[in-house]
Amino acid sequence: MLEKVSVKTGSQFDFIDITSQVSDIVKKSGVKQGLCCVHVSHTTAGVTINENADPAVPRDIIMGLDKIAPLRGGYRHAEGNSAAHIKTSLVGPSITVIIEDGRIILGTWQSIFFCDFDGPRNRTVYVKVVSG
Ligand code: ZN
Repeated sequence: MLEKVSVKTGSQFDFIDITSQVSDIVKKSGVKQGLCCVHVSHTTAGVTINENADPAVPRDIIMGLDKIAPLRGGYRHAEGNSAAHIKTSLVGPSITVIIEDGRIILGTWQSIFFCDFDGPRNRTVYVKVVSG
């Protein structure tokens, strides 16, 4: 089964916790053991798993990525959003989580974050649940 999650981001750089939406899709699927792939089909937004407890962590990740790919970098891409493309490639377009006993395995402090680097926008996340 393939499901979509709509995400509305609120600022240029935005990390949104989508763990509960992904968990709900896995529960609805009825799959007890398998894999869940979360894929972002955008070139300036990605997905990552990281700490959910301290909101400073996503902000620090954004700050760190901005040091690697600052907004002004003498880029050639005419659209003017190369920094967002670079950050997206560093974060990546997809993650896979293990499903065991009908639930995704995440550590206590882990969440799945949708990462927008060129917002605010309405974005789409695809979630594929595979039994096995
Ligand atoms: Zn572009």
